[in-house]
Amino acid sequence: MEMTETITPTSAWCRAMQRARREGVKPTKQGDGSFRVPSVSKPGTNHIVTLDQAGHIVHCDCKGWEHGGRSHPCKHAASVALAIMFLAGAHITPARSDPMPVPSLSVSRGQLFRTAR
Ligand SMILES: [Zn+2]
Repeated sequence: MEMTETITPTSAWCRAMQRARREGVKPTKQGDGSFRVPSVSKPGTNHIVTLDQAGHIVHCDCKGWEHGGRSHPCKHAASVALAIMFLAGAHITPARSDPMPVPSLSVSRGQLFRTAR
């Protein structure tokens, strides 16, 4: 990922990020630059997501990462990815759809409102 402005996550990362959002997984940045993510399956415990010098996520200590790694990231890593992108102010490409459709003033009322005929 050379570009910092626009990030295009793979579908596996997108799915993991959606899961993280849905389950409200929220990472906490630690002093050493790694992130602590509360475990959902074991409340009260945390998983540690570590980054390399370039800020890329390289490891999570959960079982999911052990099996999937970067190609099938866990929700902890995904929640950290979301946090990093948010802090960087980066755009996530799949979330950028067409500009909001602006209702044209030239359309008739019937096109905007469902009216009884
Ligand atoms: Zn994990």
